[in-house]
Amino acid sequence: MPIAENDIYKLMQQATEAGDKRLAYYWEFVHNRGVDNVCRTCQGLGTKGYGDTSTWRHTIGGQAMTTDVCDKCWGSGDEHRKGVDLRALRNSTHLFKSGIFKLYSGTQSTWMIDCKALTDADLVTIAGVMALRLGPFRTVIGIATGGLAFARHMDEHKSNSGPILIVDDVLTTGGSMENERMHQESIHGPDSCVGCVIFARGPLPSWVCAFQISGDLV
Ligand SMILES: [Zn+2]
Repeated sequence: MPIAENDIYKLMQQATEAGDKRLAYYWEFVHNRGVDNVCRTCQGLGTKGYGDTSTWRHTIGGQAMTTDVCDKCWGSGDEHRKGVDLRALRNSTHLFKSGIFKLYSGTQSTWMIDCKALTDADLVTIAGVMALRLGPFRTVIGIATGGLAFARHMDEHKSNSGPILIVDDVLTTGGSMENERMHQESIHGPDSCVGCVIFARGPLPSWVCAFQISGDLV
């Protein structure tokens, strides 16, 4: 329930009249923090007690009660105006990673591309660019599982005519794209497919279009 400024003054006044200084201070505090919709988890304080020292991280903690940032409003005290979601931030992934990786194709590499790091807004932009480059297409088929999110966004751009569009996130050797094309063309005939990927790490087949190309497989 949103609390209007007048209500807060009324509540402060009521508490003062009742001799409850603590409650009067509380409402003053909530007001000074600019809280309009008091968070029901922390009552507008922005912090709350956790049952153990793992707090909002939900890992292994000791048995001591600990106060930490509220995991509902993330510190703002306001349900409708949340602070930075630390749990989401901790779980966020990076688009490019260094390390030793075995790529889907079996090749070993010192870096990888993880398209799960791309947001919906990123995919909307990339899909818009690719739709312009590709021209009309009538159906979209995503390669599981990496290509499915991007395929959903490409689907927004399909029209009544044109080829079948096969979509993946990262192309390395192009094996899975090629398999899908062979399967589709066995049903719909030769040259019925075009391909589209976000990143091409390896050489790009002539029937596939990429948002960005690296060109060297490793
Ligand atoms: Zn809260």
